[in-house]
Amino acid sequence: MFLKIGTTHVPATDLGYLLAKNPARHQSFDLAFGKAHVFYPEVSPERCSVALLVDVDPVGLVRGRGDGDGPLTQYVNDRPYAASSFLAVALAQVFSSAMAGSSRDRPELAQTPIPLEATIPVLRSRAGLDKLRACFEPLGYEVQATALPLDETFAEWGASHYFSVHLKATLRLSELLSHLYVLIPALDGDKHYFVGSDEVDKLLDKAGAWLPAHPERDWIMTAYLKRRRSLVREALGKLLAESEDEVQAEVENRDAGEQGLERSISLNEQRMDAVAGVLSRSGASSVLDLGCGEGNLLGRLLDDRRFQRLLGMDVSCMALERAAERLHLERLPPMKRARIELVQGSLTYRDTRLSGFDAACAIEVIEHIDASRLAAFERTVFEYAQPGLVVVTTPNVEYNVRFERLEHGAFRHRDHRFEWTRDEFKAWAEVICERYGYKVEFDTIGPVDPVVGAPTQMAVFSR
Ligand code: SAH
Repeated sequence: MFLKIGTTHVPATDLGYLLAKNPARHQSFDLAFGKAHVFYPEVSPERCSVALLVDVDPVGLVRGRGDGDGPLTQYVNDRPYAASSFLAVALAQVFSSAMAGSSRDRPELAQTPIPLEATIPVLRSRAGLDKLRACFEPLGYEVQATALPLDETFAEWGASHYFSVHLKATLRLSELLSHLYVLIPALDGDKHYFVGSDEVDKLLDKAGAWLPAHPERDWIMTAYLKRRRSLVREALGKLLAESEDEVQAEVENRDAGEQGLERSISLNEQRMDAVAGVLSRSGASSVLDLGCGEGNLLGRLLDDRRFQRLLGMDVSCMALERAAERLHLERLPPMKRARIELVQGSLTYRDTRLSGFDAACAIEVIEHIDASRLAAFERTVFEYAQPGLVVVTTPNVEYNVRFERLEHGAFRHRDHRFEWTRDEFKAWAEVICERYGYKVEFDTIGPVDPVVGAPTQMAVFSR
């Protein structure tokens, strides 16, 4: 099976850096079920494309599987040819850092939307062409798909469920890869391995940013999880809990692409981008993630070797457990594992574990702390831990009127103790500067509305 990804971003050869695969070399990788080959059919400054060829052994796959009725019960099967869960697994394995949105040599480009194309010569879509379009188009893709004939010599037999697909969009490479990772097996409708609870985590990890607002969300989730109802329920619960406010905040990204493509990027993603950007530019190498939740930011920072020491703290053991799972802490190579620690604790108590870090962030955390405890949080961070840089984000309550589904006067999340206007946030930050000897700069996250501002506000404190 085969997949080609190309770009016309200039210089197009940056694709090699983004994928961490040298365009000048053909490389092969061993997979559990065969081999993956990576090579570049086109390499020039104007156009560059990479091919992923996955070679599976169809007989080896069938051996020992006498039951069921999937394609894997037949020696002659389509699996070597059709894009499927094999291709998805190969993608995740071979291009893991690119899929996670990190790049050692081109970190900023990895976070930048660029013109990308993907060609899948054979993709099975049991639910047909309309479903194929309905999966990709809402994500901003221009979709060209032709149904392949069942048999070229017998035109009267008609079309098959197999399509030759060409996708085109301006987006981040990591987005394209995670869309393919989830949508190819969902459309194909089969998986070569047992689908269990860890599949829910893979789905949340790869699709948490774009699936909640996708019009085909439920269909994709059901197909991806092979219609196992308990898993679908679990996934839906987690997906929606994680993005309770984000679903509403799923906003048009007005800067997306010259062609006026309307793309949705979740506000959460934009927040992570903004904070990761500030941290990278600051030169910090040790970072505290205060109220780290399920480790969204830590995952990104962990993939960037500039961050040598990461400490995530949260008051919720459940959130920490999820973070450990999502970050695959148990399976990390020792060097990488040594760079990160998760600890339970409350930010309203002085804690010596928080001392000695270059930077700290509290992303969407202060609004969860009772106003009467906020002074304790301030002292923990600014008086005792005293990192050189502190990034704080919080909702801008003025923007709430733009969320159609939010009742007038309601907060974005049930657990929020307050939500501040831009002036209230500024006033709070200025008192901190005066009291603890920091200076502060403000920024916005998400689309800026001329009247009510952006959905999220950010303060960057430095000493
Ligand atoms: N920063 C994460 C999570 C934000 S949700 C992200 O952006 O994805 C807010 C988090 O703050 C929750 O995980 C909650 O458990 C944590 N939290 C709330 N009060 C806290 C406290 N006093 N000490 C530490 N963590 C706290």
